[in-house]
Amino acid sequence: MDLREMFPMKLGFGGLRLPTNGEKDHIEYDKMCEMVDEYMSAGGKYFDTSFIYHRGKSEEAMAACVVDRFGRDSFCLSDKLPLWAVDGKIDLQSVFDVQLKKCHVDFFDFYLLHNVNRNDTDFIEKSDAFEFQQRLKREGKIRFAGFSFHDTPEMLDKILTEHSGLDFVQLQINYYDWLSNYVQSKKCYEVAVSHNMPVVVMETVRGGGLSSLPPAADQLLRNVQPQSSASSLAIRFAASLDNVFMVLSGMSNIDHVRDNCSYMRADKFKKLSDAEYETIQQITKIIKMNKKINCIECGSCSEVCPENIEIDKILSIYNDSQLFGNYNFPEMHFNIHVRGNSAKKCIKCGACQTVCPKGIQIVDNISAICKIYDK
Ligand code: SF4
Ligand code: SF4
Repeated sequence: MDLREMFPMKLGFGGLRLPTNGEKDHIEYDKMCEMVDEYMSAGGKYFDTSFIYHRGKSEEAMAACVVDRFGRDSFCLSDKLPLWAVDGKIDLQSVFDVQLKKCHVDFFDFYLLHNVNRNDTDFIEKSDAFEFQQRLKREGKIRFAGFSFHDTPEMLDKILTEHSGLDFVQLQINYYDWLSNYVQSKKCYEVAVSHNMPVVVMETVRGGGLSSLPPAADQLLRNVQPQSSASSLAIRFAASLDNVFMVLSGMSNIDHVRDNCSYMRADKFKKLSDAEYETIQQITKIIKMNKKINCIECGSCSEVCPENIEIDKILSIYNDSQLFGNYNFPEMHFNIHVRGNSAKKCIKCGACQTVCPKGIQIVDNISAICKIYDK
C-alpha cells in the first residue's frame, strides 16, 4: 500500500502538546476527548505519540482518549522508541512491550526510531535497532517502520541507503526552516524524494512559533487573507508537498482542532497558490528581521575557520532560539549539528571576522552561545 494514498486528510494529531493543567505530565482527558472527537468527525485518523512526550504520559492519554473509545480499525497509532532514553538497555523488546501496554494496543500502525542522528550510531549498531523494527513488522507487531530525523541531508541519505525495509521518514519541515543552514528542510525532503520515501512532517508550525507572527507579518497575512490563521499557511505549506502523506500538528485545545480541520479536511484542502508562496517568503523575511545577531547565513566564516567550527550554525541555532523560544529544542540541534565543532576549539585567529560581510564580532558571540549549549 502506498502511504501517500492512504489518508484522505493529511492532518495528524500530535501527542507532544496536549492540553494540560499547566503541569506537563497532567493531561486533561476531558478536553483531549473533545478534541479527538472533533478531529475524528472531520475525517482524522492518525495519532502520534512517543515514549517520552509529556514525561511519559502522552501514551497513556492516547490509550484513554483514543484507543479505549474507538474501534481499533478506525484510527492509526504511531509511537516512537527513543534510543537515547533507553541508552544502555539493549533489550529494546522490553521497552516496546511497555509501550504496547501503556497504549492498550497489541500492535502499532507506525513505529519509529526516535530522533536518529550521528550521535546514536554506536548504540543503533549495538542494539540492531533497525533490524529490531523489521522483526516487529514480520511478527505483525507494527505495520510500518520509520524513523524521525533532525540531522543533515547527507546523514539521511546514508541511513536510507544502508537500511532496507523502511516505509517512511519523519522530518522537521516548515517554511521557516525550508532553507535553514542546519535544519535544511528542503534538502532533507529532496533526499526522501530521491529514495521514494513517504514523509511525515513534524514541527510544522515550529512549536507554535509560526502560529503567532510579528505584527508586520500578521498584517501582511491579513491583507491577503483576512480570515486565515497564521497556522493555516504553515500547515498547508507542508501538506502541499506531494511526497508528504501526513502533517503533524501539536494541537492543544479545541480551537486549534477546529482551525486545522477547517482547511485540512479532505473536501476543503487546497494546495498553496503562487501568491501564497510569495506571501510566505515575505513573512519569513519579516520574521528574520528580528534576529538578535544580524547573520545572513552566508557561511563564509565557517569556510575559512582552521578549526572547522560550525560558526554559521551556532549563530543560527541561537538566533532561532531567541525568535521561537526553546520550543524547538536548540540544545538538541546544537548536539546534532555543532557538537565537537563548538567555540571550545577556537584559537582566536580572527580569520572568520575578516570575511564577515556584516562585521559581526564572531569570536565573542560564539563563545557566549557555546557556554549555554555546549554542556
Ligand atoms: S577566530 Fe576562532 S572561530 Fe574564527 S576562524 Fe579563528 S578559530 Fe575559527
Ligand atoms: S560570515 Fe558573518 S554573515 Fe556570514 S555566516 Fe558568518 S557570521 Fe554570518
